Amino acid sequence: MSKNTSAVKKLSRNLWWSWDTDAKDLFKSLSPLLWERVNHNPVELLRHISSDELEARCNCEFEHRISHVKQRFDDYLTEKNTWAANHAPELVENPVAYFSAEFGIHESLRIYSGGLGILAGDHLKSASDLGINFIGISLFYKEGYFRQYLNHDGWQLEDYPLQYAESLPIEKVTTKDGKDLIIEITIAQSTVYAQAWSLRVGRAMLYLLDTNIPVNESHYREICSRVYGGDQNMRINQEILLGIGGVKLLDALHLTPAVYHMNEGHSAFLTLELLKKQFEQNVPFEQAKEKVKEQCVFTTHTPVPAGHDRFSRDMMHYTFDKYLASCCIDFEELMKLGSEDPNNSSGLFTMTVLALKLSRSANGVSKLHGEVSRDMWKHLYSTTDPKQVPIGHITNGIHIRSWSSGFTDRFWRNHTESIEDMFSSRESAEAVLAKVTDGELWCMRYRLKRNLIDFISRYLSNQLYHQHQYTPYKPADSSRSVKSTLSPDVLTIGFARRFATYKRAPLVFQDLDRLNTIINNQNMPVQLIFAGKAHPHDDAGKEYIRQIVELSRRPQFLGKVVFLENYNIGVAKRLVSGVDVWLNNPVRPMEASGTSGQKTVLHGGLNLSIMDGWWCEAYNGTNGWSIGSGEQNDNYDEQYRFDALKLYEVLEHQIIPTFYERNEHNIPVKWLKNVRNAIASIAPVYNTDRMVKEYTLRYYLKESRL
Ligand SMILES: *Cc1c(COP(=O)(O)O)cnc(C)c1O
Repeated sequence: MSKNTSAVKKLSRNLWWSWDTDAKDLFKSLSPLLWERVNHNPVELLRHISSDELEARCNCEFEHRISHVKQRFDDYLTEKNTWAANHAPELVENPVAYFSAEFGIHESLRIYSGGLGILAGDHLKSASDLGINFIGISLFYKEGYFRQYLNHDGWQLEDYPLQYAESLPIEKVTTKDGKDLIIEITIAQSTVYAQAWSLRVGRAMLYLLDTNIPVNESHYREICSRVYGGDQNMRINQEILLGIGGVKLLDALHLTPAVYHMNEGHSAFLTLELLKKQFEQNVPFEQAKEKVKEQCVFTTHTPVPAGHDRFSRDMMHYTFDKYLASCCIDFEELMKLGSEDPNNSSGLFTMTVLALKLSRSANGVSKLHGEVSRDMWKHLYSTTDPKQVPIGHITNGIHIRSWSSGFTDRFWRNHTESIEDMFSSRESAEAVLAKVTDGELWCMRYRLKRNLIDFISRYLSNQLYHQHQYTPYKPADSSRSVKSTLSPDVLTIGFARRFATYKRAPLVFQDLDRLNTIINNQNMPVQLIFAGKAHPHDDAGKEYIRQIVELSRRPQFLGKVVFLENYNIGVAKRLVSGVDVWLNNPVRPMEASGTSGQKTVLHGGLNLSIMDGWWCEAYNGTNGWSIGSGEQNDNYDEQYRFDALKLYEVLEHQIIPTFYERNEHNIPVKWLKNVRNAIASIAPVYNTDRMVKEYTLRYYLKESRL
C-alpha cells in the first residue's frame, strides 16, 4: 500500500474527519454517488472501492489533497501547546471519564437518539480540540435507534437496520496477549460478559461495551440491541452495563480517571462500583461515600418527570441481590441512596437521586434549568429554599466545526484565517462580519436555502415513493403527486427535533385559518419544514406526526408544509443550514436547554423561540425573536392557546415584514442586521469549546478555577 492510500485509510478510522470539510470532500470526491449511498461513511466507502482504483487515484488525482489533510491531521494529534496544557495540566495526565448512554458523533454511527447524544458527541469533540485527556464510555447498539418511515396515513413505523463493526471505524479492545478483552458483570443471578470496542474521535477515545457475544444468554445479548429499547428490565440492565461495566472496563485498561462525569442519571450505577472498590480497601460506609463523591460530577438534563429513570424496589432487589452480596452493600442502604424521601426508602429508586447524592458537583444545562432543578430537588436537601440547593448550571453548546456546512465553513474561511478564532469572542466575530458585505451575506443565505430545497426535493420523492408503494392508486389522491414546490425566495421556517409532546410540534397549526392566511399571502409567503421521530412507545408523539402529515396534504398547505421522515444528524445538518427561521415552541420550562437553534445561527438563520432553555439567556431583542416573554400557566390548554397567539403575532408583525422589506438592490438590510447580531452574540458563547472549558475549570479540576 502506498503512503497516500494508507493515509486515506488512516483518516477514515478517526472521526476527526467528520468535522474537517477538506477531509470530508476528499472522501466524497472518490465517488459522490457512493458517498451518499453509504450515508457518508468513509470506512464503508473504502470497502466499495477496489485497492487498484484507490492506489491509482490516490497517487495521482488526490496526492496533494491527501498530504495537505494528513498533515493537518497529524499536527492536530501531536499539538502539545493546547488549551488544557496551559489551563488544566492535571487533565492531560489523568483522563476525564465521561459516561453517556448515547453519543451522537456522525450520522454513520447510529448510537444516539437525540439531543442528549449530540451534546455528548460535541462535548467529546471539543474536549479533543482543547487537548483534554478524555474518554467517553457508552454501549455499542447493534440496531442503533430506529429508522423512521411513515405509512400512507402518516403513522410512524420503525425499522431497525443492523450496523456492523466491519463497516465502522471501531476496533475490538484486546488484552496484551491479543485476546478479546472481556469484562464480567453481575446482573440478577447471572454473570454477563461484555467485550468492548474503541473509537477514535480526534485525540479522544470512545469505548463501547457490547454484550452481543455468544457466551451470553440471549436476553443479555439484547442489552446492546437498541438505544433506549425494551422495557424497564432492559433499561436497568443497560444502565448496569454502562455504569458498572464502564468502571470495570477502565480498571481493566489500567486507566485512572481524574474524574467520572455522569452525563444524565443513566450511568449513576457507576458510583456503586466505585463504592465497592472502597469497601475492598476496608473503608467504612460513610467515608467510602465521601471518597466516591470526590471523584464524581453529574449533569442533569431534564425537568420532565418521565425523563428521570425510576426503578421499583422489587426490580432493584431482583437485579442487585447477588451484586450487593459480593460488595457488602446492604440493600436498605442502597435503596436509601436512590430514595427521594430521606426518611423512607420503601418507594422507587431514582437514578438522578443516586447521582446527586454521590457526586461532588451537579449542574443543569442552562441558567433557567439550573433554577428549575434546584427547585425540583430541594426536598433532597431538606430545605424549602432553592438557593440552598447545590446544583449549578453550565449552558449547553454545539461543536462549531461539526455543525458548519461545507459551504459555510468555506465562506467564513474566505474571510478569516481561523474559524476557531472567529467564534472565540463577540469582537472577533464582529471583525470578520465587518469584512462581509450584505450582498455576500444574502448570497450565502440563498445558496444554503437552494441546497436545502434541492435536498428536500430528492428526499421527498424517495419518501413518497415508499409511502405509496403498497397503497392502491386513487386518482383523486393529490398527495401522491406532491413534488416539493418549495422556493428559495420564500421565508422558510424549520421545526425539527424529537417529537416529545412537551415540544408541541403542532402548535403553529392551532388556528388553521390564520396559518392559511400567513402561508398563502401572495406578497409575503411562508413555507414550513418539519421532521422528527417519536419514541417507539410514544403514541401521543406519533399522533402529532400523523396530524402534521395530514395537514400537509390539505390543498392550502400542499407543497408548502412538508414533513421529512427519519430525522437524524445528516438531515439536521441540512435543515439547520438552510432555513431562515428555526422554530422552537416547547412548554416552558420543560426544554432544559435545546441546542438545535444554536446550529442554525452559524449559517445565518434566526431563532424564533419560547423563552425557555438557552434562548432565555441568549435572546437580546436584536438577534432573533421570542414567542411571548416567558409567561407560564398551569393550565396546559390555556398556555397552548396563548403561545400560539403570540407565535402568530410575532410572525405577522415582525418576522414576515422584516424578511420581505428590501432595499433598492432587493436586499433585506434589516433582516441581515439581525443575522449579524445573532452570529456575533450567539456563536461565540453557545458552543462546546466555551462549555467544556467551563466544565473543566469549574467541575473537573479538584479546586474550581472559575
Ligand atoms: C441538535 C439535534 C437535536 C437536539 O435538538 P433540540 O433543539 O435540543 O431539541 C436532536 N436531534 C438531532 C438529530 C440534532 O441534530
